[in-house]
Amino acid sequence: MTSTVAFIGLGHMGGPMAANLVKAGHRVLGFDLVADQLAAAAAAGVEPAASAADAATPADVVITMLPAGRHVLALYREQGLLAAARPGTLFIDCSTIDVADARTAHAAVVEAGHRALDAPVSGGVMGAEAGTLTFMAGGGEAEFAAAEPLLDAMGKKAVHCGTAGAGQAAKICNNMILAVSMIGVSEAFVLAESLGLDHQALYDVASTASGQCWALTTNCPVPGPVPASPANRDYRPGFAAPLMAKDLGLAANALRAGGVEAPLGLKAAELYAAFAEGEGAGLDFSAIVRTLRPQNGT
Ligand code: NAD
Repeated sequence: MTSTVAFIGLGHMGGPMAANLVKAGHRVLGFDLVADQLAAAAAAGVEPAASAADAATPADVVITMLPAGRHVLALYREQGLLAAARPGTLFIDCSTIDVADARTAHAAVVEAGHRALDAPVSGGVMGAEAGTLTFMAGGGEAEFAAAEPLLDAMGKKAVHCGTAGAGQAAKICNNMILAVSMIGVSEAFVLAESLGLDHQALYDVASTASGQCWALTTNCPVPGPVPASPANRDYRPGFAAPLMAKDLGLAANALRAGGVEAPLGLKAAELYAAFAEGEGAGLDFSAIVRTLRPQNGT
């Protein structure tokens, strides 16, 4: 069954996601504040709307892919998206936002007589283009079931993680694991360098021993052992350091809100925030290895 979808936020991620919905046969009305993004989406078959509310008016489903929680909440409430939609519209927010904002958004959607699902993604721009994203969803069973055909058109896997905000919670917990493990793997390579142990030798041992993890065997932070990792192309992303810093900021907010002590997670947030504001601004998150060497050498 095809749907009429309003897709708001047609940037790096939203543009190709909306295009994949069109390819799957759905009618997609799109809106973005930036005219060039709207034009690029129109070239892929998205019907450009004059405003987010105009896109939502005829839609069964409204998908948002926006920078942060404040954009989602402002659009839903002050900018009239909830008021413009038909009663019972399914609002799927795919943006990565604070768990608390996601829960506020769910409540606002339900209060306005609609249905809500938070469904952030992993897989990056390449996954968005290839339709191979992983979705982590929070909301009711019925809302997840209703969203699944659309999520399947944009991704390869959708996991129902629990109630409102659970998708965002899964996203930040996963990325906190990733950040801590990337720093751990990087520190191990730096220690190996100081001990005269070859990168490849450490890789050959750790990749088949208990040090094995994605940060080592897929996104290896030093050039050589994993030819496809960003380290082999001057750390061109990949997963850009500022996006990791953003996600760790959301994790840190949730840690503080919940009174959870996570010294490594908070340290990772601090290191990535500094890195993303400085030399890591345009680099893959694995380039943090550069900052961990003595005298910050290369
Ligand atoms: P982006 O900046 O490229 O796109 C966001 C778009 O939203 C922009 O085009 C902007 O003009 C538009 N926008 C902002 N406010 C709007 C409004 N009120 N109405 C209409 N359009 C509006 O960002 P992105 O890289 O596509 O990321 C989007 C979300 O996906 C973020 O929450 C990000 O954390 C998450 N994410 C990104 C990646 C990635 O690799 N880029 C991976 C996973 C998750």
